[in-house]
Amino acid sequence: MFYKIALDGPSGAGKSTLAKKIAQGLNIVYVDTGALYRSIGLYMKNNGVSPDEAEGVIAALPSVSLQMKFENGKQEIYLCGEAVGDSIRTPEISMYASKVSAIPEVRTFLLDTQRDIAKTTSVIMDGRDIGTVIFPDADVKIFLTASLEARARRRTEELAQKGIHEPYEKVLAEMKERDQNDSSRKVAPAVAAKDAILLDNSDLDLEGTYQKALEIIRSRISL
Ligand code: C5P
Repeated sequence: MFYKIALDGPSGAGKSTLAKKIAQGLNIVYVDTGALYRSIGLYMKNNGVSPDEAEGVIAALPSVSLQMKFENGKQEIYLCGEAVGDSIRTPEISMYASKVSAIPEVRTFLLDTQRDIAKTTSVIMDGRDIGTVIFPDADVKIFLTASLEARARRRTEELAQKGIHEPYEKVLAEMKERDQNDSSRKVAPAVAAKDAILLDNSDLDLEGTYQKALEIIRSRISL
């Protein structure tokens, strides 16, 4: 039988790094759902649609063609036939994604893409509402979090590695704004599911976080 691991939490908690490691360790598929919202944000930006105007975004949705593919275990999104690559990873697109993701029609638009994947394989899916909305029946739900400062520090380093040099203070301020957007919105706010297990990794490195996560997973699934 296929199983589903839901990994939710705020930006910069290290969800994607952890999810990739778990997927490798357990030989299952890793789905990064933030990339879907980012791709919609990219589409709006490329087409001059303001992410602040819900009506405009909703009107543009039918023209958005998104395909998620897995190449050598790596997820790639094709937006209107073209691979998005790292173009969805800029701070500007982070903000677009945060804004468009608050629009209910955008979330509905992405629902099936996310649910369909788990019909054919075991997955670890990271996002904000995986344990609450996408897979309320997930076998394991982990809510990964860390202090705002720890998350902003990591994100600054991660961006620098990609050649994007942003001051820590700016990253911190933007992350705070995104946290606020994500947790206060009416639809699918980024909050832990009642039955999620909280994992705070402010003082843990990747290996420490991984070991804790495996403990949680093993307590729910016999691997
Ligand atoms: O995880 P990532 O930072 O790539 O997500 C980008 C944005 O997409 C987040 O700020 C959040 O607003 C939104 N998102 C969401 N639901 C998800 C995944 C991401 O609303 N499942």
